[in-house]
Amino acid sequence: MSEEKKRSILVVDDESSNIMTLSHILSPDYTVYAAKNGQSALKAAEKHLPDVILLDVIMPEMDGYAVITALKASENTKNIPVIFITGLSGDDNEEKGLSLGAADYICKPFSTAIVKIRVMNQIKALEQLRIIERLSMTDQLTDLPNRRCFETRLQTEWRRALRERTPISILVIDVDHFKIYNDTYGHQQGDVALKAVAGAIEQTLKRSGDFSARWGGEEFIALLSNTDLHGALDIAEQIRVSVETLEVPCEDRKASKLTVSIGTNTREYGGESTTDEFISRADMALYEAKKKGRNMVCRVDL
Ligand code: GH3
Ligand code: MG
Ligand code: MG
Repeated sequence: MSEEKKRSILVVDDESSNIMTLSHILSPDYTVYAAKNGQSALKAAEKHLPDVILLDVIMPEMDGYAVITALKASENTKNIPVIFITGLSGDDNEEKGLSLGAADYICKPFSTAIVKIRVMNQIKALEQLRIIERLSMTDQLTDLPNRRCFETRLQTEWRRALRERTPISILVIDVDHFKIYNDTYGHQQGDVALKAVAGAIEQTLKRSGDFSARWGGEEFIALLSNTDLHGALDIAEQIRVSVETLEVPCEDRKASKLTVSIGTNTREYGGESTTDEFISRADMALYEAKKKGRNMVCRVDL
């Protein structure tokens, strides 16, 4: 999502005049969606995934408390901050709203300035959370997704492969003799080299179902959804060649050279049962590649 994209707010109120007033206040800064009852609020929340929801409490049929309960029960909407904006004042009502998971509580009649600030506070908190989420999923040195991110993605893609009965492949990529590289050129140059390898891997993986990450140290991992054994071997070979032909910029020399060994594993429908086994078998193939002389691709014997 581009940073310039306007944030969006869903306003839920059974009174048109309240919707109009709030839209008027918020529309210069946000994309505003509106819903006039609980059911359409839930539909709009699922459809638009707004950044913040302003929610009235007293509404016919489904009140605001029931709406927030349903929002919190849905995986898609549970993290959207909800601000109650209501004529129900009093500590008990506010306590109830907050205990159901509301981020904030505004009493009617409301001040325009306060509504704006409280909405903005939620947006700011959201932006900080997204920065933290991104950092917690990214490897600092190479900017690739990190191991935690990979594991989350693996579970999702694994389930999808099972559901859709499609093959899924994995590559475990390890830089050859990297200890010697570090000893020869220094640790800092080692870091430069790891970034270059990360770039070569990333550039080789072009399909949207491909996903690479830094697994740790000088080891990388790639997940290829909907890719069979031959596809995986083809991509692995492309990565091997792209690293072999890479000229890593080096300060006092013109460039340095590196190679990688790659172990691949493919799970066809009905194959191995766990993701751990899936990875560890690719690791065994990597070990084979190392044993056979490095700078090569080995696959799990099916
Ligand atoms: P092999 O071909 O068998 O994989 O040999 P290797 O030397 O690559 O393997 P080994 O596991 O013995 O050494 C890995 C080296 O990678 C040692 C470690 O210092 C280096 N390394 C791991 N992470 C980093 C890093 O973030 N930066 C740098 N510069 N070096 C790293
Ligand atoms: Mg190595
Ligand atoms: Mg290693």
